[in-house]
Amino acid sequence: MIVDGHNDLVARLWRGDAIQHVDLAEAPRVDFAGGFFALYVPSPKPPIPTSEHYALPLPEPIPSEEAARVADELYEVFQSLPVRLATSPDDFQPGRVAAILHLEGAEPLATDLSNLDAWYARGLRSLGLVWSRANAFAEGVPFRFPSSPDIGSGLTAAGRELVRACNDLGVLVDLSHLNEAGFWDVARISSGPLVATHSNAHSLCASSRNLTDAQLDAIGASGGVVGVNFAVSFLREDGGQVAATPLEEIVRHVEYIAGRIGIDHVAFGSDFDGALVPEELGGIPGLPKLVDALRAGGLDDEAVSKVTSDNWLRVLGDSWA
Ligand SMILES: [Zn+2]
Repeated sequence: MIVDGHNDLVARLWRGDAIQHVDLAEAPRVDFAGGFFALYVPSPKPPIPTSEHYALPLPEPIPSEEAARVADELYEVFQSLPVRLATSPDDFQPGRVAAILHLEGAEPLATDLSNLDAWYARGLRSLGLVWSRANAFAEGVPFRFPSSPDIGSGLTAAGRELVRACNDLGVLVDLSHLNEAGFWDVARISSGPLVATHSNAHSLCASSRNLTDAQLDAIGASGGVVGVNFAVSFLREDGGQVAATPLEEIVRHVEYIAGRIGIDHVAFGSDFDGALVPEELGGIPGLPKLVDALRAGGLDDEAVSKVTSDNWLRVLGDSWA
C-alpha cells in the first residue's frame, strides 16, 4: 500500500487542465491508497525554472477574501473526487483511496482564525503555512537554485497563533515551502512531530525548497517525517528541469535522509500533477517501478513498507491525536 505526501490534482482539475499523474482509475492496480490532496490557491503565473541556475521572484500575496473564495471552489472539486475523506490513519486501507484535506498556504484563513473551525469541520487535517508566497502568517522560500532556504523573516504573531491552534485541533502543520526562520519558529512552538510533506535533501540538491541537514536532524528528533518530492528540479544535483531524470534520483534522496535521520523518518511526497517528475515514473502507474528501485537500492521489505506507508500512518496518528 502506498500513501503519498502531496499531490496537486485538485488545482489541476479546478483549472480545467488534463490529469498528468494522479489517474485514480489506476490506483487499485498499483496499491495507491491516497494521501495528502492539496488545496492550492494559484498565483496568476506559476513559476517554472527555465535554466539550471535561477532566482524567480515570489508571486504577489493574495488577499485573504479572494483566496477564501477560490479555496471554496477548490473544496468543491475535492468533494467531487471518488475518494474517502481521511481523518484517521485507519481510513487508509488497501483497495481504496483516502484523501487528506490539505491547505497549501493559509491565505484562505482569516488572520483572527475565525474560520479555522469551519475548515476543520470540512475535514481539514493538514495545513502548510505558506505556499512560498508571503501571507499574514509566514514567509516562504522563493524558487532559487542554488540557494539556501534561509531567506526572509520568521512567523508573524498570527502565524504563531495558527501553529498553536493547529496543535490544539489536531491539524498537521506542514513545513514544505516555509523559509528557514519560519521552520525554526515552528520547531520551537509546535507540540506535534515536524513534517515536510514534499521536500528533499539540500545536501544533494541545493534548491531553496530543500531541507538542510540541521532541518532534517530536527525533523528526525521530533519523530516527524520528510516526504521525498519527485520534482526533478528538487532532486537533481544540477537543479535542472530534465524529464529524462532517472528514478534512482528519488532513491538517492530516500537513502540520504534514511542514512542521516533513520528509515522511520522518510516517505513519499510525490508532487504529482504539480511538477515535472522523472518520465520513466510518469505518475501513479509507475509507482511499482519506484518500489523496485528502492529494493534494488538495498531496502528490505520492512524498510519499503515504512517508506511507502507506515511512516505516514504513524505521523498522522501522532499529529491528529
Ligand atoms: Zn508545493
